[in-house]
Amino acid sequence: MKPALRNETSLAKRHPRPFPWRCSACGKVDVAPAVVRYTANVRHHGRTHKVRVADLCVLKCRACGALVFQNDSHQQIARALRRQLGLLQPEEIREGRRQANDITQEQLAQAIDAAVATVSRWETGAVIQSRRADKAMRRFFATQAEQPLSARVSQLVESLVSDVLSKSRSDTEKEALLKALCARKKELGDMLATAVRE
Ligand SMILES: [Zn+2]
Repeated sequence: MKPALRNETSLAKRHPRPFPWRCSACGKVDVAPAVVRYTANVRHHGRTHKVRVADLCVLKCRACGALVFQNDSHQQIARALRRQLGLLQPEEIREGRRQANDITQEQLAQAIDAAVATVSRWETGAVIQSRRADKAMRRFFATQAEQPLSARVSQLVESLVSDVLSKSRSDTEKEALLKALCARKKELGDMLATAVRE
């Protein structure tokens, strides 16, 4: 019996065509999921980095050893490179936004002077941010976290206000909502200030 290959199930789930596949290098029908030790040379913003991955999930020809990289393999290498360079992983960027008052990708892009499409690609893992962008994001997230709770609430209310302004139908409706919000803004701020002191 052949030894079971790790990750076979997860890879096979996304590739309905059953293994083994035909190898484009040697022609034998012997390509199947495998876990290999691999060193990749990856370009990142003008420099080439050697990235070692101890357990890379690939497809491998058991006859000639040819490797076939899947999207998973590329993502794994990208994660290893980010780790090696000390860059935020995609989910850390998303989490950073969440902790920074749930700001949108647009707001983050604006704060660090990047295009929103670029921020979106960092968060899906399609593109790795530059060191400079990474620093800018960390700085921005840190400033957000340092703000006192009351200032963050105030900011949140401000964003609610602009939301109201952009979505309400009539002027009377706008005015009423804004009044209510402004009253609540001070009330909320005071409440939080007291809560923090206690
Ligand atoms: Zn082969």
